[in-house]
Amino acid sequence: MVSEDRQIRPAVFLDRDGVVNRDVGYAHHPDQIVWVDGAMEAVKILNDAGYYVFVVTNQSGVARGYYTEDHVRDLHTWMGAQMALHGARIDAFAYCPDHPEGTVPAYTKASDRRKPGPGMILELLAAWPVEKDRSFMIGDRDIDVEAATAAGIAGYLFAEANLADFVRARLGLPG
Ligand SMILES: [Mg+2]
Repeated sequence: MVSEDRQIRPAVFLDRDGVVNRDVGYAHHPDQIVWVDGAMEAVKILNDAGYYVFVVTNQSGVARGYYTEDHVRDLHTWMGAQMALHGARIDAFAYCPDHPEGTVPAYTKASDRRKPGPGMILELLAAWPVEKDRSFMIGDRDIDVEAATAAGIAGYLFAEANLADFVRARLGLPG
């Protein structure tokens, strides 16, 4: 039997920088996180509407030697905790530390996980009981939409001020 929190449900894949928090360039510490307006509310709306919420983020700063995977993981733990304080839940974070032109050898490579590759989305689709047909991605760059398309889900560009307003419109909920 599928446990209550592992039911087959649709998922929303959120880009991180520029969608959940403002894109300040290579953020890797809580001091650098400024939430996009409506970000926590948007996640809570998605939780309440029965969607899994996943964050998929390119973190080439690791390959470039600006910060480590520990920084990324610690920041995501902190972001999840901040969300939880507001009653919002991110079910999983996925990140890609690689870049073909990095400076840290272990991460200096092309990767299908790096958007516009679909790898991170496909991993999450495989690991969680996701209803793919109703799932979609929200990103602020073309590479996010391209990754979604390559993974076989819809992708939408977020270019507005408030993520909660965007999500409500996407779900057809009243503003
Ligand atoms: Mg972005």
